[in-house]
Amino acid sequence: MPRLTDEQWLKSLNALRGITSCFSHVEAHKKVVYRWYLTPHRLNKIYCTVNPKCWRCGTHDGHMTHIWWECEAIKPLWTQVQALLNTIANETHLLSPMIALLLLFPDTWRLETRKIASLIILAARNLLALHWKDTYCPTNKELIDKVYQYYQYEVLSSDSYVKTRKLEELWKPWLALNYHRKSKGRGVVHD
Ligand SMILES: [Zn+2]
Repeated sequence: MPRLTDEQWLKSLNALRGITSCFSHVEAHKKVVYRWYLTPHRLNKIYCTVNPKCWRCGTHDGHMTHIWWECEAIKPLWTQVQALLNTIANETHLLSPMIALLLLFPDTWRLETRKIASLIILAARNLLALHWKDTYCPTNKELIDKVYQYYQYEVLSSDSYVKTRKLEELWKPWLALNYHRKSKGRGVVHD
């Protein structure tokens, strides 16, 4: 990952401003930015007896970018995130570590796409964090259910009719996919 400027760090820290009212989501994002999660690479720097290799694949150095993004064992999850984004935005937006880890989007991404993408990425990362130090890769169904939970939270915490309508408008492409219904047993499940 390239060296970030002070402005980029600040932008990343404030990336969820205006996107979610959930403090837990903001906290979860900041934990990644501040490197709160201890990776094997970092643990090895502290305790030389700790194996610095990734606990999932066991072959690569377990540094931050590898653990959250590069590891082959979690590729299916990021592939699903990518596919969801492309469907919702109706155009191809390639994910990168800058986006997946720091929520730093290129200026070419529309604001609406960035808002939804931020919560989908956050859902994926939170699922990975739930299985920290585990070889398990979260399924597509888990991702879709988590994203739907986040959508519901935003709608329920909306304090005005105007805000609720704006949220429904923003999430229209997602809701049009009917993933939430399918994942509850009324259609095809995706993995
Ligand atoms: Zn790995």
